[in-house]
Amino acid sequence: MLNRARRSFLGALSGLATIPLLSGQTRDTGFAPQKSAAGRLNIKITDLRCAVIGKNPTVRIVTDQGISGYGQAESSKPYLKPMVLFYKDYLLGENPTDVERVMLKIRRLGAFKPWGSAVSAIEIALWDIAGQVAGLPVYKLLGGKIRDRVRVYNGGVRFPMTGYTPKDYAENMAKMKEAKEGFTLIKQAVGFHNMPMMNQVPNSWYDEPRSGASHPNRGLMTERGLKYVIACVEAMKNVLGDSIGLALDCGPGWAVKDAIAFAKAVEPLHLTWLEDLITGDYVPYVNADVYREVTQSTSVPIHTGEQIYLRQNFKELIERQAVNVVGPDPEDVGGIAELKWIAEYADLHGILMAPHGIFDGLIGLAAHVQVAAAMPQNYIAFEYPVGNPEWWYDIVEGLPNPIVRQGFIDVWDRPGIGVSFRVAEARKRLSEEDRGFFD
Ligand SMILES: [Mg+2]
Repeated sequence: MLNRARRSFLGALSGLATIPLLSGQTRDTGFAPQKSAAGRLNIKITDLRCAVIGKNPTVRIVTDQGISGYGQAESSKPYLKPMVLFYKDYLLGENPTDVERVMLKIRRLGAFKPWGSAVSAIEIALWDIAGQVAGLPVYKLLGGKIRDRVRVYNGGVRFPMTGYTPKDYAENMAKMKEAKEGFTLIKQAVGFHNMPMMNQVPNSWYDEPRSGASHPNRGLMTERGLKYVIACVEAMKNVLGDSIGLALDCGPGWAVKDAIAFAKAVEPLHLTWLEDLITGDYVPYVNADVYREVTQSTSVPIHTGEQIYLRQNFKELIERQAVNVVGPDPEDVGGIAELKWIAEYADLHGILMAPHGIFDGLIGLAAHVQVAAAMPQNYIAFEYPVGNPEWWYDIVEGLPNPIVRQGFIDVWDRPGIGVSFRVAEARKRLSEEDRGFFD
């Protein structure tokens, strides 16, 4: 017996029966559009697969109705496949259109970057299926779009550096300014996020250089070190003028007083934000009190959040006004609905959104576009992921051409996340171990 809510959802879906199910024409799995709405709602997960395609771990959720959903994790995590498959037994037999019900089974079994990635990729694949079943783009299921095109920022379209002097940074920024994508906002690494810059002058901070896990260096900067970073920033900003925004990815690892001194020094440059001065990039905790001290000391917007898993771990940052901008990555935070929830909560508190995404791949790019279309007006831009290697652009379909125009991506209307694989081409890129991924 169907309850009233379920009957009304079925009614809504019946009304959608005439919407062209474009996914059925393009997806490899032969979606059967003639199936009744009730039949489609009884869909069940039959398999969870993961292949490392290029460098991106790619998730495929297979169902009993010929529909598959795809999700992706960062290209920096080729080791993730066993973590994805860990969740398989939790998913088998579940209805993928009850996204939250499925997520309740697995969300607790994740952690800060990189260990929230598998859960996040699965969440995105579930939404991809839910959208295809409904015959709607995912942004409709997230509340509908409030913008027809989404702004992206350049964190990953790069040109080779000729050196690491302020002049070199200025020349390199001039090339980014002229990039064909027409970005209106560019992010550049500085400070401990850019060790060639830190190593350009001797003794730029009071500790010995360290190696090991990502971004291991931190400490108090010397006067010479701090002045050098500021000089590089000024040179880059001189190139951009006030026509293109400049954001800086700074750390983690700055001493609080250095962070404040740096922020105050660059205040006249009107930077868009200073990212991860204190924590970030594989730092598995939130340091809201310290961020709050930095944030309250400067007019430059302070940003963090790419390493954080789940909405609960943004609570203190947001409620205490510890930062001005948060930047969860949908492939680390727990997925796109998780990101939307954080965006809404941040908006209630006057905090802005600029999601991280540089390594998220082209399936990840599609997920970003869906959620960015539906985010509230605290949305600034998401970090544009590039296909790596270059052949990624040959194995997917559904992206606009060109993808970015004048710094924006037009939101597309195909069901699900709206980007899928050219299977014949993509098969050629599978490793021997992943040969059966598309079967
Ligand atoms: Mg960053």
